[in-house]
Amino acid sequence: MSGLYLHIPFCKQKCNYCDFHFSVSLRNKEALVNAIEKELVLRKNEFNEQIHTIYLGGGTPSILTIDELKGIFKCIHSNYSVAKNAEISLEANPDDLSKSYIKGLKKLGINRLSIGVQSFFDSDLHFMNRAHTSYEAIKAIKDAQDVGVENITIDLIYGIPGLSQAKWQKNLDTFLALDIPHLSSYALTVEPKTVLAHQIKSKKIEALDDELAKAHFDVLLSFMKGNEYLHYELSNFAKEGFLSKHNTSYWQGKSYLGIGPSAHSYNQKSRSWNVANNVAYINTLKEGIRPNKVEYLTMSMRYNEYIMTGLRTMWGISLDTIKKNFGQKYSSYLVKNIQKYLQKGALELVNKNRVVVKTEKFFLVDGIISDLFWVE
Ligand code: SF4
Repeated sequence: MSGLYLHIPFCKQKCNYCDFHFSVSLRNKEALVNAIEKELVLRKNEFNEQIHTIYLGGGTPSILTIDELKGIFKCIHSNYSVAKNAEISLEANPDDLSKSYIKGLKKLGINRLSIGVQSFFDSDLHFMNRAHTSYEAIKAIKDAQDVGVENITIDLIYGIPGLSQAKWQKNLDTFLALDIPHLSSYALTVEPKTVLAHQIKSKKIEALDDELAKAHFDVLLSFMKGNEYLHYELSNFAKEGFLSKHNTSYWQGKSYLGIGPSAHSYNQKSRSWNVANNVAYINTLKEGIRPNKVEYLTMSMRYNEYIMTGLRTMWGISLDTIKKNFGQKYSSYLVKNIQKYLQKGALELVNKNRVVVKTEKFFLVDGIISDLFWVE
């Protein structure tokens, strides 16, 4: 299964925690859309397989007009074979989603909306410098449902300073009341060079509290389990039939093509990434050249990647797969290193093959993963 990712690098304003590639100036929007179409054409023969998932992320893809999106989809369909039942997702911010816009998205074949809600409290949204209000978030979700978009996911952030357990619970209750089939929920993290990092460094706000985030995560796990959502990846929960096919493909090591500035691509042997600069991206594509760097993956890089993505999912990692794909050396290394986690009850061995992280230990998964990495 192959996936196509398109990075739309524009946002209305800068959220204080964000380190993604985007620009708040829309001056180059038209030129960027043209460059994306050029890259799509340039790379049309890179995959001979059908495209089963398309994901427009960013940035804020919903900043594009329906006409701009129409041009992009026309280009995709003229140059790629897209499966009839392909999952086509678009990330949207609530303040962009009017009913007529959502209808336009549906007409283009977009059948999954990822709405960046983050919190149903205006105080949190203000703290994070989000461009929308809680009212707009709820309205956007209801409008999408009214228009007939069934496959909706929202993002919620926990660990926000001042987010009490009662408020976090209220966020989860609001999510549930809205009858949404998928949730992505992340702890607020401090990335270098973000406004949040600066606010903490200059003591405008206090450092984030890991204990608070852990307490929110525990509430999240039991709430989602109690309401029959499948916890299928560290930060992702879905009702049966609504798992993200695109992201699941990433986690299962499938190939994907990334189009747009800063977008990454993967083809089993190498990983490549486009320049994270809109003007450089536009100008290089004008010359018919893709501005990218390539890294060929060694055996240990592929092994580490398998451990990293696999252990964060409910499917875990397979000892048989490790032996088959990486050989005895890696298999013995892993078997030796997982013992202490099996004894401590952090990992579980299922059917003598699959190694999975116990649900209640999921918060520690990143530490376990780095401990199991192969270091050259
Ligand atoms: S809308 Fe998304 S991509 Fe844009 S600044 Fe906020 S978090 Fe980052």
